[in-house]
Amino acid sequence: MTTRGNDLSGKCGACRRKVSQGTGCEDCGLWFHWECSGTNGDFAILPWYCNSCVQAKIIKKQEETILSLKRELELARTEIDLLKGELNLVDNCPEEFRTVSNSRRKLKKVPSSLDFKFALTSRFETLVMLEPQTDGDDIDQPVSEAKPKRKILVLGSSHGRGIGQRLQKAMGDAYAVTSIFKPNADLSNVTGDIGKLCKGFSKEDQVVIVGGPGNSLERNLNYQIEKDLSDIAQKTSHTNVRFVGLFWRHDKPWINRCVREINLRLERSLVEVGAAHIDAIDVSSILRSEHTVHGLHLNPRGKDKLTRLIAESIKGRHIPVVMGVQNHFLG
Ligand SMILES: [Zn+2]
Ligand SMILES: [Zn+2]
Repeated sequence: MTTRGNDLSGKCGACRRKVSQGTGCEDCGLWFHWECSGTNGDFAILPWYCNSCVQAKIIKKQEETILSLKRELELARTEIDLLKGELNLVDNCPEEFRTVSNSRRKLKKVPSSLDFKFALTSRFETLVMLEPQTDGDDIDQPVSEAKPKRKILVLGSSHGRGIGQRLQKAMGDAYAVTSIFKPNADLSNVTGDIGKLCKGFSKEDQVVIVGGPGNSLERNLNYQIEKDLSDIAQKTSHTNVRFVGLFWRHDKPWINRCVREINLRLERSLVEVGAAHIDAIDVSSILRSEHTVHGLHLNPRGKDKLTRLIAESIKGRHIPVVMGVQNHFLG
């Protein structure tokens, strides 16, 4: 403990002359003359740290900041590499898949000012990633000896980025994963073509829906998930659906009350509608540190975790948890 004004034997940490009266640094334990300490004998400054210890603390803090920035940069680089990989796949995919969701817009009559407004607020581009698939309807193709692969279609908003490749890796060769994601799309845009896209699917196959209404919640805080869900349920009753719950909005935490409410309603309405072929995936366990610094999207670690949750759900090892019970904001 720092004692003041005592008779001390030892040298001043600043001027190296003998100290008989002064103050001690809480960190390094060196003693200083009152005039060398810069405290002017002010007893209110407790605990007191000498200049070099204060500087050392500042440097240590800066080093920690640099280290965490380096870590974020590393994660961002990994993400960029994954995105580059997906873009290559987009370039190689058939044209009809790329335009599948824009076809409806092309059919629109002469754009009115309302259409223009609509185009401005719900602009999105369709990016498609196709994994090589072994099955198809082309009868001219030589029949493969290999067992046909089970199909997984990942439909997503911007949250779907990077999930397709990870899921393919997690599920292995028995599955063929196709991924389509639309940045800035709301749930009805994401799943608009779901019937067409999973037409040839069976009960062996899976449709995964990632990050539906979460990103547009601030524009519609009274969003009702029931209608979108019943549309999806009707169009997919011949196959299986894994519906990923809404992610926490760390960029706008006040929306999380809404996120929790919708996740609860998601579970409830699946039971009420009797949509046994749809399984909700609880993502409330994904941590703040598994989101980007900005807080809206998942970082690579978060995407790894999400992929694990989806894979476990598909493999049937998913233990259902009531959504919204874990809440980091509302307690
Ligand atoms: Zn001194
Ligand atoms: Zn010190």
